[in-house]
Formats: sequence, structure tokens, C-alpha cells
Amino acid sequence: MHLPAIEQSTRVSEIFSSLQGEGLYIGQRHLFIRFEGCHLHCQYCDESEKPAIMMSLDGVMAKAIQMDQANGPHQYVSLTGGEPLMNLTFIKPLMMRLKEARFRVFLETNGVLWQALREVVEWCDCIAMDMKLASVTGERSFKIEHEQFLRVAKSRDVFIKMVISRGVDVEEFEDLVRIVAEVDATRPVILMPVSSQCEGHEDPGLMQILESMQRIGSRFVPDIRIIPRLHKILKIP
Ligand code: SF4
Repeated sequence: MHLPAIEQSTRVSEIFSSLQGEGLYIGQRHLFIRFEGCHLHCQYCDESEKPAIMMSLDGVMAKAIQMDQANGPHQYVSLTGGEPLMNLTFIKPLMMRLKEARFRVFLETNGVLWQALREVVEWCDCIAMDMKLASVTGERSFKIEHEQFLRVAKSRDVFIKMVISRGVDVEEFEDLVRIVAEVDATRPVILMPVSSQCEGHEDPGLMQILESMQRIGSRFVPDIRIIPRLHKILKIP
């Protein structure tokens, strides 16, 4: 039988304890493992400049356990990036080891690599998936990939995050919310203002757009909320 290669080391940007800054579980203490690298190039991304070091599976586990003892308890270990699913052969055994150590696994992902998700979904307790709007990211549309991703992810506790900017295309937004409604309308959708110094609070125009998107989206999915990023407001990592 052919077994997939297990990557025993990968590039990790940081491992740290902090408050979850985005989405449905905002404000909870999470232990973050941030992986280097992403296959997308969102125009608002602030992750690309973070330096990374090579770390082994044992090294990541040892650091996670040590940080949990020093700063825990943590509600979840959040695998984040970059795009953690690009490190499939590393995160698969890592997730298994985290579960063995009784951590709960939270996957933060851009919601595109659905084939990779299929390989690890059973070890995810919660999935925070992005739905990327081309009109906001400057990237191509990932509508088809997002739909496939949500179909795989819906076997777990999953919610959807969408970053909204002044350039948002309403039709594109409606298309994405309609996909959520078709796959599983009960999943929460979180709208976030595109990152700025104080999360759009000094931009009333953007806040009006967000409110209008919330109203439009609520015709398709009942649980759609506007939640700004906590770590930008509190100025924490
Ligand atoms: S998906 Fe996330 S990490 Fe990747 S480029 Fe976009 S914002 Fe950056």
C-alpha cells in the first residue's frame, strides 16, 4: 500500500498565545501556529512579510504544550497562515498529535483548497473559512472552489468570513451568499471591514456598505453578522 509522504518539518512564522481576533469565536484565548506561505495574493494581505523558521513536528508539538502550560488553558489550537492547507503533509500528522494531546483543532483557511481539506477534515473541530471576493482581493473568483470547500467543511463546525471593502461588487457578494444558502443556510457568515488602522471606524462610507451587505445577505442566510477584527482594535498580536 502506498502511504503519503509525511513532512516532518516545515516553515513556521510564529507560535503564540493570544485572543482570537476574528469571526464567531472572537475574544477566546487560542494558541496560534502560523505557517508561512499562501498561494493567493490578496491586495490587503499583511502576512507576507512575517519571517519564518524551519520547525519539526516534534518541535511544534513541544512548543505548543509548553505554551499551553504557560498561558493556557486555550479553547483551541488555531492553525493559521498564510494558508495552512498548503502544508498538508505536515498538518495532517500535527492535527492527529494535537488531538492525541487533547487539544481542540481550529483551522483558519482561505477556503480554496478543498481537496486538501478532505484529507484532514475529520481532525478539525472548527473551521473558519474565507470566501474571497475578487472585487475586494484583486484576485480571480474562487466561487467554484468555495462551494466545494463548504460542502466538505459542513461535516464540522464551520463558519464563513468575508472581507468587505468599498470596491465590493454587490452581485458577486450575492452570488457567494447564495452558495452558502444552497449548501447549508444555517452556517454563520461574518462580514469584516477591510483592514485599516481602526477597522473602518473612521470610514463611515465603508460601514454603510457593510450594513447594506448585511441586509442584502440576510435575505439568503439568517445568521449574517458584522464583526470587526479585535486584535486591530485592541492592538494585540
Ligand atoms: S488568503 Fe490570507 S494569507 Fe493568503 S494572500 Fe489572502 S489574506 Fe494573505
